[in-house]
Amino acid sequence: MKSFQYLRPETLSEAISLMERFGAGARPLLGGTDLMVRIQKGQAEPDAVVDMKWVGEIPASIEVEDGMITVGARVVLADLVCHKQIREYYPALAEAASIVGSIQIRNRATLVGNICNASPAADTVPPLMVYGASVTIVGAGSTVVRDTANRPMPSGSIVTREVPLQDFFLGPGKSVCGPAELVVGVKIPVPTPPFGSAFGRLTRRRGVDLAIINMACAIDAAGVTTFVFGAAGPKPILVRDESGQLASTDLPESKHDELLQSLIDKTSPISDVRSGEEYRRAMLLTFGRRVLHQAQARRSAAKMG
Ligand SMILES: Cc1cc2nc3c(=O)[nH]c(=O)nc-3n(C[C@H](O)[C@H](O)[C@H](O)COP(=O)(O)OP(=O)(O)OC[C@H]3O[C@@H](n4cnc5c(N)ncnc54)[C@H](O)[C@@H]3O)c2cc1C
Repeated sequence: MKSFQYLRPETLSEAISLMERFGAGARPLLGGTDLMVRIQKGQAEPDAVVDMKWVGEIPASIEVEDGMITVGARVVLADLVCHKQIREYYPALAEAASIVGSIQIRNRATLVGNICNASPAADTVPPLMVYGASVTIVGAGSTVVRDTANRPMPSGSIVTREVPLQDFFLGPGKSVCGPAELVVGVKIPVPTPPFGSAFGRLTRRRGVDLAIINMACAIDAAGVTTFVFGAAGPKPILVRDESGQLASTDLPESKHDELLQSLIDKTSPISDVRSGEEYRRAMLLTFGRRVLHQAQARRSAAKMG
């Protein structure tokens, strides 16, 4: 394992300035359940690890305001799973977060870390995407203050941008978050009822392995059905049925299968250590049926009030 500097900034501008100073050699750290494993295996060789857990301006809370829930970057999955409004408005997210790793992992791992790792198999990403979540990214403003050695100093000038999660991922381990940028939170709009959603995942060994496939489904008030499939391509894949047919509980199963298959045809699963491509495709349909039925049932229950 290559040695690296461990840095513990206490302000956001200090954190950003450190990220700028080390450029591509810097890696931000939250729970470390992805990053430390990768460093240990030699898959990541940073010059500096910048610990975000001591930056007070990065929220460690879940805020509910004006039809929007904001999850701060320091919120761990164990707290997310227990949160009343998260469970009420976003059951698919609560379900996904509750099966990430083991309780020890969830006590440490954050929602933002799960996103920023940019794994196509990340469990919380499909639900976040069907709920229309976005991430808040901060970086240095264009005016960079430098010290006498020409190193960037905390300038206090911080710019913020909001990126819809469906535009965040570029490929395995890659996102639009720049080397000197940090994700500070996730915003999730509260769905307009009647709304139904569900999450599904197939894995070899719970607690220690990633998904063979995972997915989330949401049916909104207008009858639009959104699926996001994970581990079924280089990044999570969002597909929609806007015809209202998948949302309908009156159609025959064969018609649902036909529509579902046309959405699954937009994925590009591969064969790897976890599964063959063919098995993945078959399981996308099997789990697709399950989560669709659950989302329909939850939407019907919401209609009944
Ligand atoms: C035993 C085990 C089981 C696991 N099981 C699952 C599972 O079932 N499902 C699943 O999805 N994952 C699983 N994981 C992976 C991991 O636990 C999750 O992805 C977790 O949510 C990562 O969060 P973290 O806070 O630990 O992130 P970290 O490891 O701290 O960071 C993850 C990545 O994000 C970057 N990063 C961190 N903070 C920021 C920031 N503020 N801005 C930009 N980039 C940032 C880091 O540099 C790193 O590349 C498992 C891991 C282990 C070790």
